[in-house]
Amino acid sequence: MLKGKTGLILGVANKRSIAWHIARAADHHGAKIVLTYQNERLLRGLERILEQLSEPPLLLQCDVTDEGQMDAVFASIRDQVGHLDFLVHGLAFSKREELEGPFHDTTLENWQIAMQVSAYSFSALVRRAVPLMEGRSGSFLTLTYLGAERVIPHYNVMGAAKAALEASVRYLSADVGPRGHRVNAISAGPIKTLAASGVKGFGQMLEVVAERSALKRNLGADEIGDAAVFFLSDLSRAVTGEVMFVDCGYHAMGI
Ligand code: NAP
Repeated sequence: MLKGKTGLILGVANKRSIAWHIARAADHHGAKIVLTYQNERLLRGLERILEQLSEPPLLLQCDVTDEGQMDAVFASIRDQVGHLDFLVHGLAFSKREELEGPFHDTTLENWQIAMQVSAYSFSALVRRAVPLMEGRSGSFLTLTYLGAERVIPHYNVMGAAKAALEASVRYLSADVGPRGHRVNAISAGPIKTLAASGVKGFGQMLEVVAERSALKRNLGADEIGDAAVFFLSDLSRAVTGEVMFVDCGYHAMGI
């Protein structure tokens, strides 16, 4: 499905990361992968899991709060690979202590960093990736959550950041559409990852989904990987500006 395509995937922290499951699925379907890591500490853990890919990926450091590092990532891809067909944005950040308590206690400092990492960085990456997609039908994919449109206890500033991210998907789709590129998001159900463990009451969210979702079960991260392959491949060539739920049908239920 992805033979001949090369993609940049950001957001692999460890083997539980959603971005890792997308990387594995993309690799399985024949894509060549470029991965980023945020810092040296994470790199050591990553090296152990990368053996599972069919070929060693190009690995680059990228903290998205550092504009210079983002520039360097795309310069390296231009020099070492030459082009890109897709980009996966699997990043989010909020201070853990603000993922509990009332939303109105969000500090300006945390609002700014959450928005920067979780929403703004997607536009910043798209802008830099477009020149590497010249003449190709590129695909951009990000990850969001139902907390963008409904109140989810303790999700707080991340809800506002995901709402900004989802609006960005629509505006970016209009920006890059004339060049033949698509921009979409997967709104994933809860998955136990490092980022998710920062949300107070996360275990309870899993129980509620298992009980009330249409499929009456939780989601596997591999199922997000499979859905991502659709967006990264030409099968989704007429789909853009879309937020698609991959959540066992939880979003569709009333009570
Ligand atoms: P994860 O494994 O913890 O991944 C989050 C990634 O963001 C980590 O690799 C993290 O690196 C990275 N990151 C944070 N700040 C960064 C920065 N300044 N520069 C570069 N990278 C940075 O958690 P995940 O659950 O897979 O999250 C992936 C995406 O899925 C997020 O957008 C999340 O909101 C979304 N999502 C998750 C769920 C869920 O239930 N897990 C549901 C819906 C949507 P560090 O570890 O170094 O901070």
